Amino acid sequence: CGRGNSGKTIKVFKKRIHKKVSRKFNFLKKDFEMNYDEQNIFAKIIRGELPAEKIYEDEKVLAFMDIMPRSPGHFLVIPKASVRNILDIDNESLCAVIKVVKKLAVASKKAMNATGITIQQFSEADGGQEVFHLHFHIIPRYEGKPMDRPGQMVKDMSVLSLQANKIKAELGA
Ligand code: AMP
Repeated sequence: CGRGNSGKTIKVFKKRIHKKVSRKFNFLKKDFEMNYDEQNIFAKIIRGELPAEKIYEDEKVLAFMDIMPRSPGHFLVIPKASVRNILDIDNESLCAVIKVVKKLAVASKKAMNATGITIQQFSEADGGQEVFHLHFHIIPRYEGKPMDRPGQMVKDMSVLSLQANKIKAELGA
């Protein structure tokens, strides 16, 4: 074989190796993206390691006020199962959580005298997710009032407690 040929062979070989390595890397990246981190904020709230203004709790589901509300009465509903988002939750846990979403949407609309409800769920960073434990946002809405900007911490935590109490009272808790 000539020099030119062996150069070509090396190039093809290099290309194959590169393809193999990047394929493997993409798998690893995907694995990493889909891993559940037991140290995320909501996992700590479930374990009682961080405080939360709770509204509702049962064996499988927890709901608590969002500390950066987009509208008065904004809260989150989460499964207790260790799941990252809608992409990896099992149907049993999903059924449990979505039933509570519905129940609390109705209760919070009444309790907060809202005229509408917005429900949001973000999956993966590119989908807008920031905390990687599945959560549904329940956002009471009021006629003519747009949602507040995201990322604004509530100024007075006692406001969250008052709102949580109103919703709990509506639930008969
Ligand atoms: P996202 O993952 O984009 O749906 O956003 C996460 C949501 O969690 C935001 O609305 C935050 O305000 C909210 N959040 C973050 N930390 C806490 C916390 N410790 N207690 C209650 N809500 C929180």
